[in-house]
Amino acid sequence: MDLQAGARAAVELSAVQKTFLSARGAIHALTQTSLAIRPGQFVSIVGPSGCGKSTLLSLIAGLDAPSAGKILIEGQEVRGPHESLGVVFQRDLLLDWRTVMDNVLLQVEMRGLLPKAHASTARELLDMVGLQGFHGRYPRELSGGMRQRVAICRALVHNPLLLLMDEPFGALDAMSRDRLNVDLNRICSETKKTVIFITHSIAEAVFLGDRVVVMSSRPGRVVADIDIEAPHPRDLSFRESPEFAGYVRRVRTIFEAEGVL
Ligand code: ADP
Ligand code: MG
Repeated sequence: MDLQAGARAAVELSAVQKTFLSARGAIHALTQTSLAIRPGQFVSIVGPSGCGKSTLLSLIAGLDAPSAGKILIEGQEVRGPHESLGVVFQRDLLLDWRTVMDNVLLQVEMRGLLPKAHASTARELLDMVGLQGFHGRYPRELSGGMRQRVAICRALVHNPLLLLMDEPFGALDAMSRDRLNVDLNRICSETKKTVIFITHSIAEAVFLGDRVVVMSSRPGRVVADIDIEAPHPRDLSFRESPEFAGYVRRVRTIFEAEGVL
């Protein structure tokens, strides 16, 4: 399967709000969030803990409905769980009793598709993330970084339009995180997916993003939207450049002004 074949979505949020009702009253998780994402764009969303980032992602995934406003994927309003999605969470959620290969193919099985038809894509993806030779291993034989690579392959094996990532590298040590940043950047430039990547690391947001959307504390709203003008693929030397430092400073200044830092 050609992992690039037309598989990228445009996403549009207009005036999206989300309020949770609880016994202790209403929690305004998101207010007036509008965002237009071009097909193939990698958008980093950075914001303090509790500002509604995961909420935003679950609304885009169609796992929950906005209290007001609209979300469109490919021009279609999201009204329930969206089919053509890949999701990666902070926890890799691999099944211990399945091999690496079978964990990747789980995505296909759960969708009622034929595992056989996707085996070559699964192999291709695993090799792309540096897991050649590990296809038959079990999750317990892998490091945290390798496990998260398997989770990324599982999210991509059905060639979704849109990849949603919710702090996927938050539980990794700094070195594994750096390597995964470089690899994810390469994979996304090769597959040209539309990606929404949530993080609370400013450096990670800038390193990966075509664009960094900065959110305020709860209730979350977009306080800045910054284009990161640097070609892909990027390597770690980008992080040592004055341009990179400039972007990081811009985001940090916004957080300081918002009273977050
Ligand atoms: P983030 O991912 O940015 O840390 P979340 O989106 O998880 O933030 O949460 C935003 C706010 O909404 C938090 O105050 C959280 O407690 C609240 N919240 C999230 N999900 C629910 C829910 N299902 N019911 C009630 N409150 C929720
Ligand atoms: Mg979260």
